[in-house]
Amino acid sequence: MMAAVRPVIVAGNWKMHTTPGDAGELAAAIAALIDEPSVTRVICPPFVALAAVGEALAGSGIEVGAQDVHHEVSGPFTGEISAPMLQGLATWVICGHSERRRDACETDERIGRKVARALEHGLRPILAVGERLEEREAGAAERVVRVQLEGALAAGDIEASDRLVIAYEPVWAIGTGRTAHGSDAAAMAELIRSTLAEAGWGSDAGAVPVLYGGSVTAANIGEFLSQPALDGALVGGASLKPDEMAGIVARAALTARARQAATTGARRSA
Ligand code: PEP
Repeated sequence: MMAAVRPVIVAGNWKMHTTPGDAGELAAAIAALIDEPSVTRVICPPFVALAAVGEALAGSGIEVGAQDVHHEVSGPFTGEISAPMLQGLATWVICGHSERRRDACETDERIGRKVARALEHGLRPILAVGERLEEREAGAAERVVRVQLEGALAAGDIEASDRLVIAYEPVWAIGTGRTAHGSDAAAMAELIRSTLAEAGWGSDAGAVPVLYGGSVTAANIGEFLSQPALDGALVGGASLKPDEMAGIVARAALTARARQAATTGARRSA
């Protein structure tokens, strides 16, 4: 089912920034600087700017993602957006971002159902997990991430899929300028894959891309991409800056090309 080499992915989360009037221009400015097909590149603008960004990115190879999706397909849910509504507008969606866990009281149960709706409707979910500072300080980071992941998988009845991506985003690193150590993030990526394996994914778990998120910039992305367990980044603030995105994707392309070269070499010597 799964690809042998994990892709390198850079996804930008624009959060509550840009309008339908200016988002297309920003997307085009970024696209001009990140023409690196070896890297899977995704931009996640606000819902109302999805169409404008999709238009600006047409033909660029850069994909469009939404920042959230509802856990039901339709119904009396004022103000919400469902997976079928995203058809033609987005091919990716972030589920369970910590800002939504915090501000919209999203539970693991609800997040799991969002992931399930996304998968059912052909979207690629980026499931975000991560501990709060007090949880890390209490030595509970691994347990928290494991519980978040197990809760979502169980609630959504999510079976092995080559479309699921996980983002490890320690809450204390989001928008703070503080980052995790690359080695700690890599250890968490391994824990995430072993949790998936134990949840019934078996060897398919090894092929699941795990991104790091939390104050990633062009200057620090190398620390994460030098860790073989990590497959890219979910980028917030820096994803609104074309030069930062250019630096992040350029570094990601080095890893992507090295992985491809290693696979080609392995195939030749087999
Ligand atoms: C995010 O929004 O997922 C994020 C990681 O934000 P930032 O890069 O700004 O910390």
